[in-house]
Amino acid sequence: MILLSGADVVLPDKILSPGTIALEDDRIAEIVSGSHRGDSAVRVDLTGRVVVPGFIDVHVHGLEGSDTLDGPEAIGVIAERMPRFGVTSFCPTSIACSPSALRMMLTAVRMARASPVPGCARVLPAHLESNFINPEFRGAQPLDCLRLPRGASPGGEFAGDEILQEIARARGDVGIVTVAPELEGALDLIGSLAAAGHRVSLGHSGATYEQGIAGIAAGARHATHLFNRMTPIGQRAPGLAAAVLEHDDVAAEIICDGVHVHPAMVRIALAAKRSSRLMAITDGTAGAGLPEGARAMIGGRRITVGDAARLDDGTLAGSVLTMDRVFARLAGTMGIPLVEAAQMCATTPARSLNLEGLGAITRGARADLTVLDRQFSVVQTYVSGGQVWPGKGKKDKE
Ligand SMILES: [Zn+2]
Repeated sequence: MILLSGADVVLPDKILSPGTIALEDDRIAEIVSGSHRGDSAVRVDLTGRVVVPGFIDVHVHGLEGSDTLDGPEAIGVIAERMPRFGVTSFCPTSIACSPSALRMMLTAVRMARASPVPGCARVLPAHLESNFINPEFRGAQPLDCLRLPRGASPGGEFAGDEILQEIARARGDVGIVTVAPELEGALDLIGSLAAAGHRVSLGHSGATYEQGIAGIAAGARHATHLFNRMTPIGQRAPGLAAAVLEHDDVAAEIICDGVHVHPAMVRIALAAKRSSRLMAITDGTAGAGLPEGARAMIGGRRITVGDAARLDDGTLAGSVLTMDRVFARLAGTMGIPLVEAAQMCATTPARSLNLEGLGAITRGARADLTVLDRQFSVVQTYVSGGQVWPGKGKKDKE
């Protein structure tokens, strides 16, 4: 047994200050108040630290030079690097790509999930920021890869059906699929994807409020980076953003880097959705963790690191953010209570994806934990009760 003792422990409804978490094998065996010293246990003194459930990022394309679409090794490389940023689970996220590129990525996801590597973050089913999005709201996604769910799509070397076949081949490894509900045939597609067990997400969309509601009625339960690349809120045209904010059936992602979404809009979203239906994401790219001015790729397109990741023409192409900084921004700069910040970074994504035993510090849950200092920098990360960061022999790199 391992005792993590003396830290402020962020529980689903309160903070134990101080508290002690007993880990047995891969589970949380007990949570008690106070600093404890077990007789036959290994005690880790975490006085002055904060323990939160390990961060779960459901929308991340890459990290430190690696993009999910780079090749078969990329997912493993990203999974290995995630714990340093407090991330214990993540959804590898693709942008619109060819069927062969998608197959390559989904094969890598399957292998990573089938044989988890010790010391790495958990690889969750993928998030496809898919081919079925509105070209006008594509952002950094490649126009020549976009398809209509039904009817003729302009040009291109492959049909939309081929993408759907790849999704069908990899069912259990495809979690979230982003779809623009206003496209021809999209409502049928949303219904069939939802029926097949995928979590359909509204996004990269020019949907009106009404079209957004129709998407929710068809089975969409998620929204891709709320406010970014979707119709904004107007007093007479509430847009997709308002449909998402208004409907409790839908949980929304929000990018918290201070660049993609103004902090006031994050607070408005939090007031409308509460932390139980709002999840912080990074939308991080391979530029995350690299110095300013560095070059990296997203789906084979070049990006440059600045306040965010941008294509050569200046188009915003995701963030250079990591989850530790997201949490620090929420709980620090924005002053959101620790319990709510932990919900946004772990509990709500876990519940949204039905990840049993993950996302909250409760008795019997998997021991996926992140230990922070008072500035919310990551001190230690645990996956399945084992310390994965800093790893053995890696301490010198701190
Ligand atoms: Zn993205």
